[in-house]
Parts: sequence; structure tokens; C-alpha cells
Amino acid sequence: MSFPEPDITPLNEPYWSGLKDGRLMFQHCEGCGHNWLPAREACPSCLAPRPTWQASAGWATVVSWVVYHTAYSDAFKDRVPYDVTCVALDEGPRLLTNVIGSEAGRKLCIGSRVTLAIQYEGETALARFRLAEPA
Ligand SMILES: [Zn+2]
Repeated sequence: MSFPEPDITPLNEPYWSGLKDGRLMFQHCEGCGHNWLPAREACPSCLAPRPTWQASAGWATVVSWVVYHTAYSDAFKDRVPYDVTCVALDEGPRLLTNVIGSEAGRKLCIGSRVTLAIQYEGETALARFRLAEPA
């Protein structure tokens, strides 16, 4: 079984095409300044329509993670154990991702700094992250 393909719609297309261009895009509300992912028709904070898109600087902080020791899809059976990590971009939006080099979560801490590392699965560019070197 191959890696699952995202359901790309007119609403979320800027997110997926942004990754192919090397940028992680998120939605922004010009009315209240809120930033978010995943894509929505209206601001989840003030419900204003017509959000704009902005590019993240690519830095984030680990919020939480789990380690999968069981593959619930055949597409992932050769990948266990692997992490599924929630990160918060410095601009605010949170997303679920994988952290490269985390050794299935063993090197992660809440608050770990990570940086964007776009990887391809087939034709799909994915927003994964890499542990940042300590300053
Ligand atoms: Zn708003």
C-alpha cells in the first residue's frame, strides 16, 4: 500500500502548493490577526470571511507527541515505531507532523525547538520538522 494522498481542494490548495515551493503556508485573518491551520473558509476566532495566506518562517516548538508501535495502515508498517508530534509554529498555528531524527520521540521534550524540513512522499510535499541544534 502506498502513502496516503491528501485530499486537495480549492480551500487547502495554497497549503499544498506552498510546500512544493518550499514554504509552509498558514491562514491569517486581517480583521483580528489570528493565524491558523488547517484551512477554513472563515476565521475560527472572529468568523471573518476571506482569510489570507502567509508563509511561516519555519520555526516551531514541540507541544506533545505520541509514538506509534503499531501500524494501523499497511502504508506505515515499515515505519514503526514513529512519532506523531504536535508542534506550534512561532506564528501560532499548530499542526501534526513527524520530527526527523527524534528516534521515534525518544529525543523529544515539550518545548523542544524544531525547524521545517519539507519531505516528499511520492509527489506529495509534507511539512515535517527536524530538531534544532541547541543554541
Ligand atoms: Zn479573525
